[in-house]
Amino acid sequence: MTDVYRIDEGAKVRLSKLPTRDDALFDGDKKAGLVVLDDLSREIAALQRRLFAEDRHRVLVVLQGMDTSGKSSTIRDVFRHTNSLGVHAVSFGKPSEEELQRDYLWRIHAHSPRRGEIAIFDRSHYEDVTVVRVLDLVEKSTWTRRYEHIRQFEQMLVDEGTTIVKLFLHISADEQAEQLRERIHDPEVRWKFNPSDLEARAVWDQYETAWEDAIAETSTGDAPWYVVPADRRWYRKLAVARILRDTLADLDPSYPDVGEDLTPYLDRL
Ligand code: AMP
Ligand code: MG
Repeated sequence: MTDVYRIDEGAKVRLSKLPTRDDALFDGDKKAGLVVLDDLSREIAALQRRLFAEDRHRVLVVLQGMDTSGKSSTIRDVFRHTNSLGVHAVSFGKPSEEELQRDYLWRIHAHSPRRGEIAIFDRSHYEDVTVVRVLDLVEKSTWTRRYEHIRQFEQMLVDEGTTIVKLFLHISADEQAEQLRERIHDPEVRWKFNPSDLEARAVWDQYETAWEDAIAETSTGDAPWYVVPADRRWYRKLAVARILRDTLADLDPSYPDVGEDLTPYLDRL
């Protein structure tokens, strides 16, 4: 079902042809949708407890999207019932001097999930084939060869036991304008307003092309991309929760069988 938003390996990606508003996973209203979201978040929390107890699988969730697409509030709400000790959420902003001393995957790899853990990336190594391309921070010959590095890097993680889910929160330019207006007006979100978002917005088409190429080049059977309609906030969270719930359910984590009869210990209590 959640496959509706999955990008097949080798498929061409035209973001303008993919929905930013949709009802394939839920066709009710916001109020009912928020109830479903809460149920899914609880299911994710229950699956995470098993994942942690089983201590076998690793899960990596990559969240990307244009500015204001809702990456951080999606993380907040999808994992609202999940024990923080079992997740590792990290935001990747502009690389520091220290990070720029190394290769671009160095800082990323350092945050890959432990066994039993879910790592959540708010931005990721995909910035190293998109923003660096649009802003001309590295040569074309540099970012083009990175697709292959990324495919290989992710395949290595998968081969070593990591399940990878990559989510592109897909908003329209109109929805971004609406979100930016809100940031300007609302005192509680004004702090998020960054004039550089307007510069990025001015080259929206270039970002769109960069993302289309990045997604098409790196959506593989083992590390798929999902392009999630994100104009409606509650639907975007519900869709992400569905994709993650289904992914975790497929892993079918189970509490370990301790194998021995523990009842003799009752005598010591
Ligand atoms: P925010 O997510 O709003 O805190 O913004 C983080 C900023 O860091 C965004 O403008 C990203 O494009 C930028 N950024 C993240 N990773 C990189 C990178 N590897 N190279 C250049 N800029 C980056
Ligand atoms: Mg920002």
